[in-house]
Parts: sequence; C-alpha cells; structure tokens
Amino acid sequence: MVTIAVDGPSGSGKSSVSKAVAGRLGLAYLDTGAMYRAATLWCVRTDVALDDADAVARAVREMPLEMGVDPAAPGVVLDGDDVAAAIRTTEVSSAVSQVATNLEVRAEMKRRQRAVIDAENTDGFSGGRGIVAEGRDITTVVAPDADARVLLTASEEARLRRRSLEVHGAADAAAVDATRDQVLRRDRDDSTVSQFLTAADGVVTVDSSELDLDQTVAAVLSVVDR
Ligand code: C5P
Repeated sequence: MVTIAVDGPSGSGKSSVSKAVAGRLGLAYLDTGAMYRAATLWCVRTDVALDDADAVARAVREMPLEMGVDPAAPGVVLDGDDVAAAIRTTEVSSAVSQVATNLEVRAEMKRRQRAVIDAENTDGFSGGRGIVAEGRDITTVVAPDADARVLLTASEEARLRRRSLEVHGAADAAAVDATRDQVLRRDRDDSTVSQFLTAADGVVTVDSSELDLDQTVAAVLSVVDR
C-alpha cells in the first residue's frame, strides 16, 4: 500500500500526470482541487454568499459530495448530480480561491481527504492498494507522511499555454492573454494558504516545462521508485 502526493499550480499538468501514474501503478486517484471546486458550486447552488465565511464553512461541512477514485473515470457527484463538467466553468474557477482560503473549509476538506486516503490504504472491499492524491497542500498538510511527495512545476509560459489549451482549445497569443490574469491571480490568492510554488523539505521537484506527458510520468515514477 502506498500514498503518492503530488502538488503543483494550475497548468503544471498535475491532473493528467497523477491520473496516468495511478493508472500505471493500479492505484486509486483523488483530485482534491475538484473537491474545492465542488464546494464552491455547492455554495452557489444553495445561495450561500461567498463572502460570508461562517455560512460557507457551515455549507461545506454539510455538503453531500461523493468523489470517485478511478483514475480512468474520476466522478464528482454532488447531491446525486454528476458535476464533473459544472465545476470547470469560468464562474467556479474565478470564485474557488475565495472558498479555498477559508480555514474552516480547509480543515473540513483535509478531514474528508484523509478519510479517502486512509480507506485506500486499508485492506478491504475496495482493494486497498494505495492512492495518488493531487492538489496544493497534499505534500505538506494532508499527507506529509506520503511514501513519495512530488512538486510538479513548469515555467509560467508552459503553464499558461497548457491552461489556455484546456480552457480555450487554443494557445495563440490572444488565448494565452485571456488565460494569464485568471491563472496568475489564482496562484497569488491560493499561495496565501498553501505552499505549492516552491518545494517543502523532503519534497522532490519535477519540472515539466520541457517534458511531454510520458516523460513527466516517467520522472514521477522514478521518484516513487527511490
Ligand atoms: O487543481 P485545481 O485548479 O482544479 O484546483 C482548484 C482550486 O482549488 C485551486 O485554485 C485552489 O484554490 C483550491 N485547492 C486548494 N487545495 C488543494 C487543491 C485545490 O486550495 N489541495
């Protein structure tokens, strides 16, 4: 049984890489960013004002969220509704940092994420082979005891290009410009509560700027093998 923790900023490629690593090793996969996105959507859908910190914390504690952990199809089900696409809208992306910087929300998320990680590391019905968990604070806060801890980085240029391709389906100058403000603002807002732009002690940095997906997966697997 094994826990692999992968952190990194938007556009570092951590979701694709983490899913591929989990697939290769036959492990479960947890996208913790999707949980913060679902929490944001939940507040929007239940008419909770995002600037009311207590109301947001209360709503998130009661949020009926089920996270799928199959790396080939990691579902996100909120109150019985498949929200895998709905959590990726620009509306959610621009609001998510406000929810994620709420310390009570972070405590609740850590509790839920630990429960998933522990369940996948326990012999039982679901297999218990281990898990790859990715986010912003997995190597430092949620699973500082992980067997392998990786910070996936990439140059700002590479990150903006990838994110632009994801969101706009293009990476020409205009599309990259449209992405820049949102990505850099989110980095800045998120970095007030978690360290994911520089590696913490004992965390191995993998720079994917010049690597394709297969090469990045190989680099992460070599950290796991150490
Ligand atoms: O990874 P993704 O871009 O989907 O994450 C969405 C947001 O969730 C981040 O911008 C951040 O605000 C929050 N997040 C976090 N801690 C994590 C994962 C994500 O605060 N472990």
